[in-house]
Amino acid sequence: MASDVQDLINNIVRTLLEDGRDEGHFLSRTYDLAQRRGGLFYRALLHVLTHLDFPEKEAHEHWNRITDHMADMSRKLNRPVSFRVALIDYFFTINRKIENPKIIEIELFEAIERLTYIDPLTGLYNRRFLDQVILREISLANRLKSPFSIILFDLDFFKTYNDTFGHIAGDEALRFIANRLKDTLRVEDLAIRYGGEEFLVVLPRTSRSGALVIGERFRKLIACLDPNNPGCHLKSHLTLSGGIATFPQDGHDENQLLLNADRSLYQAKSEGRNTICFCTPDRRQFVRIDFICPIRYQVVEPTFNTVDSADTRNLSMGGLLFAVQQQIPLHAIVEVQVRVPESDHTVSFFGEVVRVENGVVPDGPYLVGLSFLQFEGEGQNFIIEYVKEKLKIE
Ligand code: GH3
Ligand code: MG
Ligand code: MG
Repeated sequence: MASDVQDLINNIVRTLLEDGRDEGHFLSRTYDLAQRRGGLFYRALLHVLTHLDFPEKEAHEHWNRITDHMADMSRKLNRPVSFRVALIDYFFTINRKIENPKIIEIELFEAIERLTYIDPLTGLYNRRFLDQVILREISLANRLKSPFSIILFDLDFFKTYNDTFGHIAGDEALRFIANRLKDTLRVEDLAIRYGGEEFLVVLPRTSRSGALVIGERFRKLIACLDPNNPGCHLKSHLTLSGGIATFPQDGHDENQLLLNADRSLYQAKSEGRNTICFCTPDRRQFVRIDFICPIRYQVVEPTFNTVDSADTRNLSMGGLLFAVQQQIPLHAIVEVQVRVPESDHTVSFFGEVVRVENGVVPDGPYLVGLSFLQFEGEGQNFIIEYVKEKLKIE
């Protein structure tokens, strides 16, 4: 079930189980939601409340009878009866066909709710928990006037690992690495499964250099694991890269911090992987230089398009901005061919589209921001040398 619906159900169940909440409001909200979501909604709701699984139509019928029963009981007893009481009475006395229903308790419900913050594969917190954690850390760091850091780890070439050993072995590797991560961290640190093979750690009261020590310790631990060792649940040698961002110097809010951790990670990947990077005050590699030059380009993912020409605008060690007549989808993978200025030599490289903007003129040209993907080979060497050269001159 979609997580927004699960959130709504959790909220409704909480209203039901806590005394003194406005049940009239809850019941009308339930009705509105069920209109939009259909019978599945009642089925999910009754399942959370009673652990009983009814077919959708039957769940709907029970629900209507419980609300009728609630009104009936209130009338007979001449006082308001809560939904919880009506629900219990209905399943114990009215609908006796059902034996031993387990009406959920608030403590149990809270335990279940906690589970929605836990990633089932690794047992780490999931991304839904992150917002709360970062907000709490920012307010704490402001109050204590101390920094905190985050590190975004990403396994290197994990797709190859999956392709070689299969998804189940991949999952086992993720679980094993997540457990090693838990062992490495201090009790106050927090580990989150940020994406498929990405882990984010939040390190309270930790400066950039402190984060580097922790990041390096974990990097080395994974890089030194021996797959031949019986306790090691890896099919082959694995490494990871990491990017650090520190509050407040690398960002004042969650988005900026995540963006900078991601940038640092990107740098670690571009430096050959199996390394940890942090945001350097020296941002020369992100400095853009004017670079006006005709290029040829071809979208290769999600579909192969024909080769087209375009004009570049600027260049950095991390990416290229160019103008095209046809819009290119975000995240498309593009191969670019550039003729090296003042030579008849052509180099090519791949990049991912990370930005598409309508240019000054409506309907084109579109400005496309490409983030380089391949960090070896001639194309990349050309870019690094060219940008370095320009920066020295300017
Ligand atoms: P890079 O060094 O650039 O990070 O290369 P990569 O292959 O790790 O990067 P990419 O992002 O292209 O691939 C990530 C792969 O991680 C894709 C998928 O095969 C794998 N993966 C993601 N989530 C899971 C998961 O839950 N289980 C398993 N087994 N594999 C996963
Ligand atoms: Mg990844
Ligand atoms: Mg990866």
